[in-house]
Amino acid sequence: MKSVAVLHASQLVTLAGPERPRVGPEMSDLAIIRDGGMLIRDGKIDIIGSSAEIKKKATDCEIVDARGRLVVPGFVDAHTHPVFAANRLDDFERRARGETYEQIAAAGGGIWSTVEKTRAASEPDLFEQGKKHANWFLKCGTTTVEAKSGYGLTVEDELKILRVIRRLNEETPIEFVPTFLGAHAVPREWRQSEYIDLVINEMLPRVASEKLAEFCDVFCERGYFDIAQSREILAAAKKLGLKLRIHADQLTNSGAAKLAAEFKATTADHLEKTDEQGIAALKAAEVQPVLLPGSVYALGSTDYPRAREMIDAGLAVVIATDFNPGSSPTVSMPMILSLACTQMKMSPAEAITASTINAAYSLGRGDKIGSLETGKLATFSIFDCQDYRELAYWFGFSQMHSVYVRGERVMDKN
Ligand SMILES: [Zn+2]
Repeated sequence: MKSVAVLHASQLVTLAGPERPRVGPEMSDLAIIRDGGMLIRDGKIDIIGSSAEIKKKATDCEIVDARGRLVVPGFVDAHTHPVFAANRLDDFERRARGETYEQIAAAGGGIWSTVEKTRAASEPDLFEQGKKHANWFLKCGTTTVEAKSGYGLTVEDELKILRVIRRLNEETPIEFVPTFLGAHAVPREWRQSEYIDLVINEMLPRVASEKLAEFCDVFCERGYFDIAQSREILAAAKKLGLKLRIHADQLTNSGAAKLAAEFKATTADHLEKTDEQGIAALKAAEVQPVLLPGSVYALGSTDYPRAREMIDAGLAVVIATDFNPGSSPTVSMPMILSLACTQMKMSPAEAITASTINAAYSLGRGDKIGSLETGKLATFSIFDCQDYRELAYWFGFSQMHSVYVRGERVMDKN
């Protein structure tokens, strides 16, 4: 049995607390142990407490001396699109010149350019690019990543992307949680109603029978999939045993948050345009909001979701990167913490809760990760700072010192 003792964390941010997502004032309680330590056996936390106490019990152990650095649970990124080919540099430059989404799409950019390149890419090539992204996540202290398909939009290409996600889960230190997003957009070659039939009658049954996804997601938005169409797809997914996440109310207040409530979806994501009624519906159905300030920032908008109202209403708020090549080209959870505090007026403590324990519950893994408590996985990051608020305060670079998954060091800054 392998044992590891972690000693001398300036702050050991445990997030110990009730066995459920945190709401309201609970989001501000990080349960910090100063000069903290942990005893790890077989990848799990055995004892957690003061360094002095752990030191006494640490016989015959490998010692990890944090030397006064910050220790926090590995970040859990609950909304990403990490498997795609190439990038969207031209779109980025056009946006900087002031061109609109429509102009960019007309010039051959937008999601279509990514779909075409992803269809053309081989499975090994997509895996190699995905591995590079996995490495970026680790460098920012992220150890669990929800990963959506959605750049294939044919039966074979969607399955190809989901198989790449499965292989990334098996062959990198990160745990990838797969989500099927065949309803990301209607491909050019299909009429909308026919494409929805394809998603429901061909894609979803294959995804479910090959166990390639835990969740199904729909881009519920004007010009993509409206409420009735989204309802059809979500009902079919639910019947097959998939859990639900929804891209909701990003560009318009379409009623998608209420649809998420109707289905008791696990999460409703984006919510930039969601109003009080939408917030109340989410609360009544206990749907977790996943807020994605990186995409608001990268699109040059100022329309951030109403995080404060959601927290005050008692929602178990999650924040995530929305990593994708078009609207949110970042894997950096510390950057998202910065945006959460400066743009959405969350406190640094609330932002950490939203990116660890609450995010873990939104992926059905709150019993294993997201906090550092006896019996949970020893999956954590050490940062080159002393105070948890520094994670959100210094922005634009990674303070990661080292990252551990199940008690094993998988990344360090050198
Ligand atoms: Zn997204």
